Amino acid sequence: MHDEVEVLVELLEEVLGEHHNHYESKAQISFDCPRCSEEKGLENGDGKGNLEINYSKHVFKCWSCGDTFGTHGPLGKLFDLFGTKKQKKIYDLIKPEELKVEDKKKVFLRLPEGYTKFEDSNPRFIPHREALNYLISRGVTEDIIKKYNIGYTVKGDFAYRIIIPSYNTEGKLNYFVGRAWMKRKDKYKNPSVPKDEIIFNESLIDWSKDIYLVEGAFDSFFLDNPLVMLGKKLSKLAFENLYNKSQGNIIICCDGDAWLDGLKIYHELNGGRLYNKIKIVKLPKDKDICDLKGNIDEYYYEIK
Ligand SMILES: [Zn+2]
Repeated sequence: MHDEVEVLVELLEEVLGEHHNHYESKAQISFDCPRCSEEKGLENGDGKGNLEINYSKHVFKCWSCGDTFGTHGPLGKLFDLFGTKKQKKIYDLIKPEELKVEDKKKVFLRLPEGYTKFEDSNPRFIPHREALNYLISRGVTEDIIKKYNIGYTVKGDFAYRIIIPSYNTEGKLNYFVGRAWMKRKDKYKNPSVPKDEIIFNESLIDWSKDIYLVEGAFDSFFLDNPLVMLGKKLSKLAFENLYNKSQGNIIICCDGDAWLDGLKIYHELNGGRLYNKIKIVKLPKDKDICDLKGNIDEYYYEIK
């Protein structure tokens, strides 16, 4: 075995346990899939070796649960799912240069032109006052503005919008929401990054605690540990992350007018290792979490 292969196999065994078949000529090696094993309640693997890795292409796939639970993709994702932060770091060091270059080629998102924090702007500037008044009218406090790095801009494509940035687990900007503070048809304008390829403010999510699924960024300000869907549907990426990482309950908090969307998400999530951990609230028709300032205790709805 080449040295690099040996190091990688050793690292994989640390994460996945002993390997099954290893075809060096094809650069293929298989392991028991941790997700499948967990599904069956087996701690030390299910003995099937369904998880296959190609270490020349740096990809993996579980032939049994890959399509259902997203257990496939670049090897880095495998370390995200099943490894520790340290193991991921070691993998990043040994992964080939070509793959690192590809990571760098991705265009990094920037905050829109003219983005200004309230603390850096003149409180007598009329747009500053208008934007701040709008936030106050929706119950957004100074603490929330600071916590979420909320700002505004009067320039460019996002002019006259409040900007709510979103950061990934490495603290890099991965999205933002632009909300107009004046009445206009296009209340929201967002960057061209597909919203189903990111998790909004993933950096703030604690997967070990109860998670509240909400539709919009404004809803998320009023609940502890929210996951923002940026709409009424749960993306595949959000589903995979919830299924693989969430350890507490998941509470679905769609707007009052989206009860049926909430129910759909309930049934999508309430299975496998999440069974019986899904809760849902039924809000009054014309209300959302932001309107209620997160006071949802009386709206829990039991599904029988
Ligand atoms: Zn599997």
